[in-house]
Amino acid sequence: MNVDYEVIRNKAIDLLEQRGVKLIDIAKITLEIQKQYYDNLTIDECLDHVNNVLNKREVLNAVLTGVTIDVLAEQGHIEEPLKSLLMNDYSLYGIDEVLAYSIVNVYGSIGLTNFGYIDKLKVGIIGEVDKLGKTPNRCNTFLDDIVGAIAAAAASRIAHTR
Ligand code: MG
Repeated sequence: MNVDYEVIRNKAIDLLEQRGVKLIDIAKITLEIQKQYYDNLTIDECLDHVNNVLNKREVLNAVLTGVTIDVLAEQGHIEEPLKSLLMNDYSLYGIDEVLAYSIVNVYGSIGLTNFGYIDKLKVGIIGEVDKLGKTPNRCNTFLDDIVGAIAAAAASRIAHTR
């Protein structure tokens, strides 16, 4: 099987946009959590790092997998009891976070710290994704963690490159 990661990258970015998340929204989270450490940090630089994170296969695979599970749950294509766990974003489910770790892991332990911080404070678009996920027939169980993980990974990239 020949896998074209340029096609997968475009699909992953499309999927995020279809679910209401633009790359600039993710860059804004990165800027928000990193601006206190670098006073000349710009949104363009953060967007650049977000784009670089989305060049990693592990990241693209996680985006495809997580968003697809959210959509399948909404469409009723997942059987009980998993369907209810996903639709209700059951707090002890935990696999959404585990999948997100595969994104932050690429950037070492600093990525994990950033992810925990973003997840706890629901920075920027994460709060909106979370709120929308609580409306009936909507499932954002994986999306919030994926977006937080990409923002955290971009933040770690800044720390590693500056
Ligand atoms: Mg979640």
